[in-house]
Amino acid sequence: MNLGLQDKVVIVTGGAKGIGAAIAELIAQEGGIAVIAGRSEADNNKAVDAIRKAGGKALAIRAELGKVEDCKHVIDTTVKEFGRIDGLVNNAGANDGVGLESGSPERFMASLQNNLSHYYNLAHFALPYLKAAKGAILNIGSKVAETGQGNTSGYAASKGAINALTREWAVELLPHSVRVNTVNPAEVWTPLYETWINSLPDPKAKLASIVSKIPLEKRMTTSEEIASMSVFLLSDKSSHTTGQIIYVDGGYTHLDRSIS
Ligand code: NAP
Repeated sequence: MNLGLQDKVVIVTGGAKGIGAAIAELIAQEGGIAVIAGRSEADNNKAVDAIRKAGGKALAIRAELGKVEDCKHVIDTTVKEFGRIDGLVNNAGANDGVGLESGSPERFMASLQNNLSHYYNLAHFALPYLKAAKGAILNIGSKVAETGQGNTSGYAASKGAINALTREWAVELLPHSVRVNTVNPAEVWTPLYETWINSLPDPKAKLASIVSKIPLEKRMTTSEEIASMSVFLLSDKSSHTTGQIIYVDGGYTHLDRSIS
């Protein structure tokens, strides 16, 4: 299937690692230009080099996305370089463990800044260009929005808001034919996941227990599986799909786990 992404310019936040890196790679494989925006210049450049080595097109932009001015810089730099924006993948985030009891009002607000505000800020600044291109926004959320996890109020609130904004933005942008969808993963092995599982008392046992409860094939979802759905939703092949919240999680969030 040709997704029609040739020379389309797509910004991927957190595109240097994990799920974002898989999305950026797939966009480039499909002939698009992946603009990787994230906090580490070294990580960004490494990801861009890998894409270029494989024959793809990519650009790195350093940005601490919790800062409004950095979000604006990402959009301004992309437009200066390519003159257009066809897609925005809001992906960067971290399950930062700001709990109701363990956290504080200040840490809660900081978590929203790092997990939620930049989704709005980037969409806001990119909007004139997305409208001009009849482009698409793809958000990466989390099953935590539906299930909760405990001890992660800031992250859960952010992911819940991302689900709500998916519908809100899809409605607001109907007149402009800009589509907005969200992909929600549950358990995907990435640098972030590895850090999280290793923060628990018995990581090996916890991982085995989690994997044993994933209904489809008792395995984690791969970043490539998240990327396939995400890039399809960005592409014109899903031209009549908007406002959807899709779980790419082997059935983890919605299926009855007592059946297996
Ligand atoms: P990851 O391995 O940590 O990769 C995320 C990348 O984004 C990293 O390069 C990170 O930089 C960067 N980043 C994060 N916050 C940033 C910020 N505020 N400003 C600039 N750069 C930032 O994470 P991942 O597991 O691929 O997660 C990607 C998305 O999927 C997140 O939204 C996460 O909530 C969601 N998700 C993941 C899972 C899972 O199982 N992995 C499950 C559900 C949802 P640093 O490395 O320097 O921090």
